[in-house]
Amino acid sequence: MAKTIQAIRGMNDCLPEISGTWQKVESVLRQVVASYGYQEIRTPIVESTDLFKRSIGEVTDIVEKEMYTFEDRNGDSLTLRPEGTASCVRAGNEHGLLYNQQQRLWYLGPMFRHERPQKGRYRQFHQFGVEAYGLGGPDIDLEVILLSARLWKAFGISDSVTLQINTLGSNEARQDYRDALVDYLKARADKLDDDSLRRLETNPLRVLDSKNPQVQEAIADAPSLMDYLDDESKTHFETLCSQLTAAGIAYEVNPRLVRGLDYYNRTVFEWVTDSLGAQGTVCAGGRYDGLVEQLGGKATPAVGFAMGMERLVLLLTTLYPQAQDDSAADVYVTALGEDAQAYAVTVSEALRDKHPEVRVMMHCGGGNLKKQLKRADKTGAKLALILGSEEAEQQTVVVKPLRDGNEQETVALENIGSALATILN
Ligand code: ATP
Ligand code: MG
Repeated sequence: MAKTIQAIRGMNDCLPEISGTWQKVESVLRQVVASYGYQEIRTPIVESTDLFKRSIGEVTDIVEKEMYTFEDRNGDSLTLRPEGTASCVRAGNEHGLLYNQQQRLWYLGPMFRHERPQKGRYRQFHQFGVEAYGLGGPDIDLEVILLSARLWKAFGISDSVTLQINTLGSNEARQDYRDALVDYLKARADKLDDDSLRRLETNPLRVLDSKNPQVQEAIADAPSLMDYLDDESKTHFETLCSQLTAAGIAYEVNPRLVRGLDYYNRTVFEWVTDSLGAQGTVCAGGRYDGLVEQLGGKATPAVGFAMGMERLVLLLTTLYPQAQDDSAADVYVTALGEDAQAYAVTVSEALRDKHPEVRVMMHCGGGNLKKQLKRADKTGAKLALILGSEEAEQQTVVVKPLRDGNEQETVALENIGSALATILN
């Protein structure tokens, strides 16, 4: 036998047993973003490497060690997108969507990062995200947070996620803070790991983002950015906090929350869960008022978030294992004998005409009734329709419930809708 080829490590197949859950999740996401007036944007998976270097920042985990970067046949440096925001801004600038305009956008698709694969962390993963442009006030920050909160409600997981927020202030305020932080960190250099020592020189705020417990301990009493905020950022943050409270959204202010990308300013937030072990951040975002200009557009305020789809699906399957439906069909149509086979086609097609929402699978490949019902059972169908030559002649069907132990009954083909009533709701 030929040697089999396997998928790339950290890149998953989405098999039928779980693809139904993904589809349901996606349809809820689409419905919720539409209810806030957000429109979809789809951008290419591959972009110029420069786009990510200039936006995410040279001294970040993503750009330093996680990007899939390669030369194409023309010798251009290209990168598989590690996140969606940079592409949105690139596309927005390129097509004039951002210039003196307001835009509310969303996207969904695969992202690529060369990380160590583990539960909730993969090399190809999927992000759903929203981005709002041209609005600088706390009201739009509130809106994107409300939108995310509505998602948790729609998925029934509000009790399992908590909101952490922080503000990074203005660039100038961060500069003052940076100096104080560097002094503090230099005095504790012996407790920092290599990554943090390097960052101390290049991008000290990033040290706060370290996941190393020893570094975490060393920075426990680090000066707080809150004490260095400019007045406008302070007011912005306080307004957002009081609006969150007014809207009934519980939150925790986490002064250590700095986010792993360079482009954020002012509001940053994360939704975290303790139901998934170490990979607890399900959704993360914030304001990035400088990025549009940094990428060649006119200065435009912006705010958004990205959600890890795999982590959301994991959370759902962890919290609601019973609710995941991997069935392929609702109704399985069996046929015994040649007359019945033609009749089965008629019945199946008629059903699909009348009830397009019902999943009708028609048996193929013949065999006796026992074999056909075994197949029916395997598909997860709730009903089997049993068709023989007698049914074909009399234009009836035998409806056999497969799950609830009820008796089978014979109904006229034209009344089949009522027989399906049990599975239609
Ligand atoms: P983490 O701290 O977990 O590495 P991050 O700060 O790198 O996350 P972002 O770049 O903000 O993550 O991405 C937003 C969301 O995308 C994360 O909160 C997470 O849910 C998801 N995500 C990020 N990286 C991965 C990955 N490698 N595999 C699966 N999901 C991921
Ligand atoms: Mg990361």
